[in-house]
Amino acid sequence: MASYQAPLQFMRFLLHDVFKTEDALKSMDVMEDFNVELMDAILDEAANFSQQVLFPINQSGDAQGCTFKDGVVTTPDGFKEAYQQFINGGWSALGCSEEFGGQPVPKSLHLMVEEIFYACNTSFGLYPNLTNTAILLIDKHATTELKNSYLEKMVQGVWSGTMCLTESHAGSDLGLIKTKAIVKEEGKYSITGTKIFISAGEHDLTENIVHLVLAKLPDSPAGSRGISLFLVPKFFPETDGSIGERNNVQCGSIEHKMGINAQATCVLNFDGAEGYLIGEVNQGLKCMFTMMNCERLSVGIQGLGLADVSIQTATEYALDRKQGRVQGSTQESDAIINHSDVRRMLLSMMSSNGGCRALIAYAGNLYDVSEHHADENKRRSASQILAILTPICKAFISDNASINCNLGMQILGGHGYVKEWGMEQLVRDVRITQIYEGTNGIQSMDLLARKILSDEGTGWNHIKQDLCDMIKEAEAVNNLGKDCTRVKQAMTNLSSVTDSLLQDAKRNSNLIGAVATEYLHLFGTVTVGCLWLKMAATAINSGEDGVFQQQIKSLCSFYNRYHLATIATSVERIMVGDKVITKMDLSEFELTTMVN
Ligand SMILES: Cc1cc2nc3c(=O)[nH]c(=O)nc-3n(C[C@H](O)[C@H](O)[C@H](O)COP(=O)(O)OP(=O)(O)OC[C@H]3O[C@@H](n4cnc5c(N)ncnc54)[C@H](O)[C@@H]3O)c2cc1C
Repeated sequence: MASYQAPLQFMRFLLHDVFKTEDALKSMDVMEDFNVELMDAILDEAANFSQQVLFPINQSGDAQGCTFKDGVVTTPDGFKEAYQQFINGGWSALGCSEEFGGQPVPKSLHLMVEEIFYACNTSFGLYPNLTNTAILLIDKHATTELKNSYLEKMVQGVWSGTMCLTESHAGSDLGLIKTKAIVKEEGKYSITGTKIFISAGEHDLTENIVHLVLAKLPDSPAGSRGISLFLVPKFFPETDGSIGERNNVQCGSIEHKMGINAQATCVLNFDGAEGYLIGEVNQGLKCMFTMMNCERLSVGIQGLGLADVSIQTATEYALDRKQGRVQGSTQESDAIINHSDVRRMLLSMMSSNGGCRALIAYAGNLYDVSEHHADENKRRSASQILAILTPICKAFISDNASINCNLGMQILGGHGYVKEWGMEQLVRDVRITQIYEGTNGIQSMDLLARKILSDEGTGWNHIKQDLCDMIKEAEAVNNLGKDCTRVKQAMTNLSSVTDSLLQDAKRNSNLIGAVATEYLHLFGTVTVGCLWLKMAATAINSGEDGVFQQQIKSLCSFYNRYHLATIATSVERIMVGDKVITKMDLSEFELTTMVN
């Protein structure tokens, strides 16, 4: 079985030492109750609960999966009981507004708690997570009447939420959706259509499910400008908060898939179901982005958590497993951790995942500033940086997580490939993070086209300033000179590539598509390089020199030598541009003559 202990020391280091969350909150005048002790207590409790309740049903949940019979979905054994414990512990209220019974928490803390849940059981974690982000959306965009009817129960976790976007012919391109909304009477709409791949679309964990559905009204503009958003409950609520009659929404089937088998991925049929408009007509996608942006961070965190389990299990195994002898050894065989190639894999995983955790903490802090800071300019610049970081957190972290879960399996050799150790489940579970919530290709284009090019580089200038400040602060610290030089050079490369794209790519969608993925990876690698400098500088400035501080410095150094080395390749690939990709004629993809 896989091993996992929540990385609490590292999380505390990020929250308290690197990003000084308590002080940051004071300057925002929000969540005044939050101090180091309270944050630590929440992390400790999240770790206890997840390790004791969620982790033990992870492997069995995968083996058993969800079942579907006559429109009813049953989650694997133990999930209902675990969910009850989850809501009894008040976890569903985390991050929700106090008005509806929630407990506002610093976003970076919330994201770390989520990481722990996902590491222990990603399939489980998705059920409450979707509810949490649905609550945010309803709270921000729905009428007071809808909020009063739904939010309290959702915050309590007795009702759950979903996000219904995808249709069989409309995945990345939501402008193609066919689900229809027709006005029934004042404020009520009739929703008809079929949504596919809906996570937590039907299950036995909650007494009601609140679907957030994208649909089109008659005569609405074509494409994504004609999409509206509707709240469609499975059961209508009574005025006393109990559930009443069933609405016309049914689960048609569940998907049989590669991973996250304990998560119900559903086909949902809306057959004249009653729904209520959220936000303005034709502004549905805009409202949906409140949920989607949080989900994108959340998907990155799923990868982070799963990769952490892979790292921990692989490290434990590598310390124990004896094969081959290292130079000068007097043993019959040595633990495989002594072999350089195994160390290379472990260091690659640890430095990449640790850096990505710092990236998430950085994004979490920006989220709080963008929502709560008294100074409007600070709010605006934080939200511009966060907009850039969101697709990076989703795609860069999930791509790395997938690599890291595979490396973990590699370290266990054949024992990683068989089911016993749980490593193959990690590889299967993590793979979806590169696909859903907008594929990583779509994230890359969002970063380059929408977040960098379309605002003429305003957001880019803000983040560049932030990253350069991190380098500057590290330059003032002894013993980081070589690392600073490397990261500074990488930053110069990112700047010149960005400036060149700002010049050449704006009206060239072929070029954007051809280089976007490489650009996102370049951006992610440089950002994580800067964050490692920030962490190493914090560790050195602490004056302590224990194993933890040594580890931070070693991983900083490894990341900035090993991972930063990919930057030269990325720059070269971006500079090649689109010609090499668009040159080949479509006819050359003819299957009958294809060279492969
Ligand atoms: C397990 C699971 C759970 C899911 N949960 C939900 C959910 O809760 N709610 C929901 O609404 N959806 C959900 N989805 C759907 C998911 O978000 C979509 O599968 C995803 O957005 C991609 O859409 P698609 O599968 O139709 O692929 P397509 O859009 O057909 O894409 C296929 C390929 O083409 C590329 N591509 C597409 N368009 C472009 C373009 N313009 N430029 C360049 N490349 C392009 C893509 O990057 C991809 O590589 C889930 C899917 C799965 C498998």
